[in-house]
Amino acid sequence: MAAPGARFRAAATSETGVPIVDMAKCIGCGQCANACPHRAIEMGDGKAWVSSALCRRCGMCLPGCPTGALS
Ligand code: SF4
Ligand code: SF4
Repeated sequence: MAAPGARFRAAATSETGVPIVDMAKCIGCGQCANACPHRAIEMGDGKAWVSSALCRRCGMCLPGCPTGALS
């Protein structure tokens, strides 16, 4: 049986659909913040921070990350 929430994984791969930032991989380039149409990503301390309240789980931030830090 498919796990609950599996249908969201085509767009974003975390359990909730909100992208997870791997802080070890994030280089703070800001590409994801620029790509997010909902302004759900802010840059701070050289890292990307995703607001689960603002995120609409569209997945548009995922492909542009140059280091694969978003999943
Ligand atoms: S999944 Fe969509 S709404 Fe959420 S942070 Fe990424 S681009 Fe923004
Ligand atoms: S695109 Fe990737 S490396 Fe760049 S700020 Fe976002 S998560 Fe970090």
